[in-house]
Amino acid sequence: MSPTFSCPNCGGTLEYTGQAAQTGVQTISCGYCGNLVAVPNELWQPIEDAKTAQTVNQWTKYLLIFIIVVFVVPTCLGVIGALLGIGGSIIAGIVGIFTSLLPFLFK
Ligand SMILES: [Zn+2]
Repeated sequence: MSPTFSCPNCGGTLEYTGQAAQTGVQTISCGYCGNLVAVPNELWQPIEDAKTAQTVNQWTKYLLIFIIVVFVVPTCLGVIGALLGIGGSIIAGIVGIFTSLLPFLFK
């Protein structure tokens, strides 16, 4: 729901939709008398703050992606590499045992 305020000229109820913030002009035209009315700062500010919060959110997202790429991916690759190393050692060990048992099996 958009915040509302009274037109200082005609007293009509004006709705602040945030359009003024997007165009960079802190005035909207009154729908009743057509006057250009300055948007009160207390209405102007929260929308600007919301925008800032959104930007911060975006940076948090980028930071998260950065952390994943720089830390999580190499860690996962390291773990996979370690598991493959362990698996390789176990297979090599089994092959080694069978190889050493072969002369006894075919005696
Ligand atoms: Zn008015």
